[in-house]
Amino acid sequence: MHFTDKNKKLGILGGGQLGKMLLTETRRLDLKTKVLDPSKDAPSKIGCDEFVQGDLMDYDTVVAFGEDTDLLTIEIENVNLDALEYLESNGTQVQPPTHSLITIQNKAKQKLFYVDHNIPTVPFSRFAYTSEIKESLSNGGLKLPLVWKSASMGYDGKGVKIVREENDLTELPNVECIAEDLVKEKIELAIIVARNPSGDIVTYPVVEMEFHPEANQVEYVICPARIPDEVAARAREIGKDIVEELDHVGLMAVEMFLTPEGELLVNEVAPRPHNSGHLTIEACYTNQFDQHLRAILDLPLGSTKSKLPAIMVNLVGEEGYTGEAVYKNLEETMALEGVSPHIYGKRETRPFRKIGHITIVGQELPEVRKIAERVKDQVRVVSKT
Ligand code: ADP
Repeated sequence: MHFTDKNKKLGILGGGQLGKMLLTETRRLDLKTKVLDPSKDAPSKIGCDEFVQGDLMDYDTVVAFGEDTDLLTIEIENVNLDALEYLESNGTQVQPPTHSLITIQNKAKQKLFYVDHNIPTVPFSRFAYTSEIKESLSNGGLKLPLVWKSASMGYDGKGVKIVREENDLTELPNVECIAEDLVKEKIELAIIVARNPSGDIVTYPVVEMEFHPEANQVEYVICPARIPDEVAARAREIGKDIVEELDHVGLMAVEMFLTPEGELLVNEVAPRPHNSGHLTIEACYTNQFDQHLRAILDLPLGSTKSKLPAIMVNLVGEEGYTGEAVYKNLEETMALEGVSPHIYGKRETRPFRKIGHITIVGQELPEVRKIAERVKDQVRVVSKT
């Protein structure tokens, strides 16, 4: 699909905040778009040319949607892959390619891919059912603590549980899963890589992620990560290896752990724009959404250079509040230097739901950090009642 051809249509599976931010870029390039999402109030609805409400996991819905597009992409990886395979074999361009999504969608498959391609990752065992972990613990095959991860449909920490005692297993669903070693001390890093069908690859500066201890959600994303250049260079190489070995097209976010020994271990990847790349909107020459479009359209990839140090703060729903979202103290923080809020347009807040984010840029990271902490302390997402 040529991006200036007015008769062509880009289909996007998923209409959340990632889609909404992607649509800012399709608007800029005047690309025609069509979005599929299960929610009639999806954040992307206002930014696309056509909106279809439907189930992303339903074969017939995805095929019917895809047949009316010239190029199909995703903003969420939990989509019906049989439908994508069918569409791909019947002439619809699908980017990222289905084979790459098949490897990534199932965490057990994803982990096996790392092992097969000598990509460093946290040691793990694979199980058809959670109940098998118990057997393995009792015969000494596995030891506690471990990290349980559901093989499919995990998102924002929901498919992940640290198991410290056998009892922790009882509340978990009895599904295909992996049991990983618990990495006790670590810095969490992420790198975004983009590849186009011509095989060009670019990598963004490595970012550092700080987590909320209870919700297991990112609290601060810091760019650049405070790590030695040599470690950042290794992270970039690992990211490149992954997209090359997968023959991936589009963006790929690679989450990694850096251990105190200096080892880099891949945690997981996301084959799309990612929370850790939101700060590229204000902080880099080419933002991640622009880059994703360039990659899937086989255009020259943009410079990933950083313009300024930056920190992103997720705006998540406060505990104890459910209902129509109300933002407290947002205006006050906008008076501070370098503060840009992004509001996703989700009407309903729920505890820990991602409702928006705020990026802070500045000349020096310690100053940016001070402002980010003020923003984090002051802005609250509560509900009307
Ligand atoms: P999700 O797909 O829900 O984002 P992740 O696999 O990224 O799940 O896990 C969420 C978070 O849980 C990670 O960012 C990290 O903080 C923690 N975590 C995951 N795996 C491990 C591990 N093996 N050891 C220690 N912490 C982990």
